[in-house]
Amino acid sequence: MLDWLIVGNGVVGATTACLLADAGFSVAVLDSLERVPAMPEDWDLRTYSLTPASRRILSAIGVWPLLDAQRIAPYARMAVWEAAHGAQIDFDAGRLAQPALGYILEQSCLLRAVQAGLSARPRIARYTGTVASLEQTAESATLTLASGQRLQARALVACDGPDSPLRQLAGMGCEVQAYPQQAVIANVETGAPHDFIARQCFLAEGPLAFLPLPDPRRCSIVWSMSPAAAEATLAQDDAAFTAALGRAFDHRLGPVLSTSARLAFPLRRQHAPTYSEGRVVLVGDAAHVVHPLAGQGLNLGLLDAAVLAERANAAGPAGLESPAPLFRRYERQRRGEVLAMLAATDGLNRLFLYHAPWAGWLRSAGLALTQRLAPMKQLLMAHAMGDLGDLPQVARLQAASNVHS
Ligand SMILES: Cc1cc2nc3c(=O)[nH]c(=O)nc-3n(C[C@H](O)[C@H](O)[C@H](O)COP(=O)(O)OP(=O)(O)OC[C@H]3O[C@@H](n4cnc5c(N)ncnc54)[C@H](O)[C@@H]3O)c2cc1C
Repeated sequence: MLDWLIVGNGVVGATTACLLADAGFSVAVLDSLERVPAMPEDWDLRTYSLTPASRRILSAIGVWPLLDAQRIAPYARMAVWEAAHGAQIDFDAGRLAQPALGYILEQSCLLRAVQAGLSARPRIARYTGTVASLEQTAESATLTLASGQRLQARALVACDGPDSPLRQLAGMGCEVQAYPQQAVIANVETGAPHDFIARQCFLAEGPLAFLPLPDPRRCSIVWSMSPAAAEATLAQDDAAFTAALGRAFDHRLGPVLSTSARLAFPLRRQHAPTYSEGRVVLVGDAAHVVHPLAGQGLNLGLLDAAVLAERANAAGPAGLESPAPLFRRYERQRRGEVLAMLAATDGLNRLFLYHAPWAGWLRSAGLALTQRLAPMKQLLMAHAMGDLGDLPQVARLQAASNVHS
């Protein structure tokens, strides 16, 4: 019988599998899709901002070196401002003596690298299929796939995304709240170079981020707006879209010269009241979904994976005989962090959506004050870099020297 069966072979699932296999457990991964994404000819529309802590986790499993360095954009500075009043706050990794605040990567590059990480561990079995039913006993859990195939393990990890079929089969609830917003994403070319600074401005309908791609004049944009505005934005021709985008961004990078195709994602916040049930444990978006304004969803999932593997390693094979205490320790270590991130992203999004005059004053005063208070800025930066909180060993700053970077 397997020790661990991971359901969901996205970035979080594959990382969880590598970490658990490296801790000596027998592991298999199941996904409904078989494909390894092709490298896009141009820039992938889906990009992630990853923290230095996530980089350390990916380095520890040997995945970071598999990424093409030419397709990673490290950024050491970030500027955040409010469009209405112009108050601005700037962050600089140099203030913490760190080389980068984060890294912008394309989803397809990252998925290909984690799949190569799995292939480098031939003992990890891979299955393709859709989960159909779940049976749990005192000793094990058995998943039956739509094909009729049965997979038995001592513990199941749901890494199958926000709608997690495994979470539902385990009878676990999830609190879901839709935001009155969608995120429109695109890659655009700008008149002025981005200088590897991540920029975000808060507009009346939500935040607009310009994230640097490795090409000095190309950015990945994430623009949150009402569903009606998103629909209208997707329907615009390129010239109308680039003009509107340039205006919304106050032409901080000159005119927007060209754009890729555009996509829109409905936004929601989500949190499971409990992270485990019997022999099933939730990791990544299966447990929580946060607003993308802080670019932290995947980063949270990678930290979940590292904490679960660390706890499993400490408990050893005996910990799987009755996994409830192991799962409780994992949840205790992660829940506070996740709730803090949910509250911060939710609070920021709501504060900037209020149109009352007091809210405008509070926003400008808050940004101006934070800009002047060096210790508060450093604290915010350390948080955004994933360097604070009850971190697993593999994600800690001092662990960097122990990993192949
Ligand atoms: C616009 C936008 C921008 C974002 N930007 C950032 C960012 O900059 N930084 C960041 O950290 N996060 C960001 N996020 C969040 C990030 O995309 C998610 O947190 C992350 O993708 C979650 O990864 P996951 O592996 O948990 O889930 P997923 O990526 O959803 O993977 C789930 C896997 O489960 C598989 N699966 C699904 N159903 C089944 C089934 N029935 N049986 C078997 N397998 C199944 C799927 O095929 C998939 O491979 C952003 C989100 C949005 C919407």
